[in-house]
Amino acid sequence: MPLPLESRLDSYRRLLTLSQVLTSTLDLLTLLDLIVNAARDLTQTEATSILLLDQKTGQLYFEAVTGSKSEEIKRVVVPPSSLAGWVVREGRVQIINDVSKDRRFYAESDSSTGFHTRALVAVPMKVKERVIGVLEAINPLNGATFSDDDVELLTTLSAQAAIAIENARLFQQSDLISEMVHELRTPLTSIVAYSELLLQRQIPPEMAHEFVGTIYQEAQSLSNMTNAFLELSRLQSGRTRFNMTPCDLTDLVREVINLLKPQADERGLQLDSELPEQSVLVIADRDRIRQVLVNLASNAVKYNRPQGTVCLCLTPLDEAQVKIEVRDTGRGIPAKDLPHIFEKFYRVADSEGWAQGTGIGLNIVKQIVEAHGSAVTVESEIDVGTTFSFLLRAAPVEP
Ligand code: ADP
Repeated sequence: MPLPLESRLDSYRRLLTLSQVLTSTLDLLTLLDLIVNAARDLTQTEATSILLLDQKTGQLYFEAVTGSKSEEIKRVVVPPSSLAGWVVREGRVQIINDVSKDRRFYAESDSSTGFHTRALVAVPMKVKERVIGVLEAINPLNGATFSDDDVELLTTLSAQAAIAIENARLFQQSDLISEMVHELRTPLTSIVAYSELLLQRQIPPEMAHEFVGTIYQEAQSLSNMTNAFLELSRLQSGRTRFNMTPCDLTDLVREVINLLKPQADERGLQLDSELPEQSVLVIADRDRIRQVLVNLASNAVKYNRPQGTVCLCLTPLDEAQVKIEVRDTGRGIPAKDLPHIFEKFYRVADSEGWAQGTGIGLNIVKQIVEAHGSAVTVESEIDVGTTFSFLLRAAPVEP
């Protein structure tokens, strides 16, 4: 049933106010909440939800839903064969007034939400023709069916919502930029200060030599930081493509050990590996997993003590999974810091006394391992050592 003119105008008035609220909200979670609630009010439906497309993995997952079930359904992935999957691919609206007659309807969502979907509208959320997600509404109240007016309202809302979501994401990025600039300040300040001192001619040669040493070290640390920042911002933007191919982990571990040998020797550390006799093949992005191993192993070296050891171990668990561990006999991580070490820029309070760092190595590790569908775990005991581990998918054996 088309809406009477008066209530149509009223809906558009509300949409207009809403668009101002949306563009001024930069917190992604608040924003998504606002959108689903607005969609429900505008269309007078039982529930609405937003599914977002993960740029890295191509997966479509629930990110917000109206009502109390929102936490349970968050991150639930829906298959490409679902209606939402169809909407993403085709970039077109779908109205189904009886989902029981449509094979694409993904009934699992109902078991997660506790709703009983009867009718459904799914609208693509687009930014410049690129679909970033889907806005869905289910079951018009009073048993009615969805009308063209509902679709029109949802389409207008979803266009505004898509832009607001994209802006909030970009803002998260710009937050990252200010954090990064902040981190660059410390080494830059000492480079400027020491070179200013050097420019005064009366500095004795030994002291001048020491100053140049400091400048060199700080410049080195700036260079490491810029590489890490680039990687981090790439990962965070969701623009990173993962090149998943079969790769030989045994080979990779040897490569990483050779790379870190000089650093370990310099600190009087033993760098070992525990590898099965046969080579271990996994499905992974080789360069990125190399980055993960380098980050973990160089931490194991940096936060170790003289005569300590670092070990890179590979254990095939079964035909499907391989466990990768990086163990050290270093300082250990205090229990109160463990929940935070994977956060961006987080460093344990006295880390600077041990080694230079930026506090982003582990965040990069986490993001890369998660993009491989896995998770990093850490076990640590003070003055005994730390073990980081994660699983990778084994490559199927050729018959
Ligand atoms: P950083 O650049 O500071 O090394 P990371 O993100 O790699 O940054 O690590 C975050 C913090 O976690 C480090 O500052 C350090 O305090 C702690 N940490 C990481 N790995 C280890 C380890 N193997 N042993 C002890 N502490 C560690």
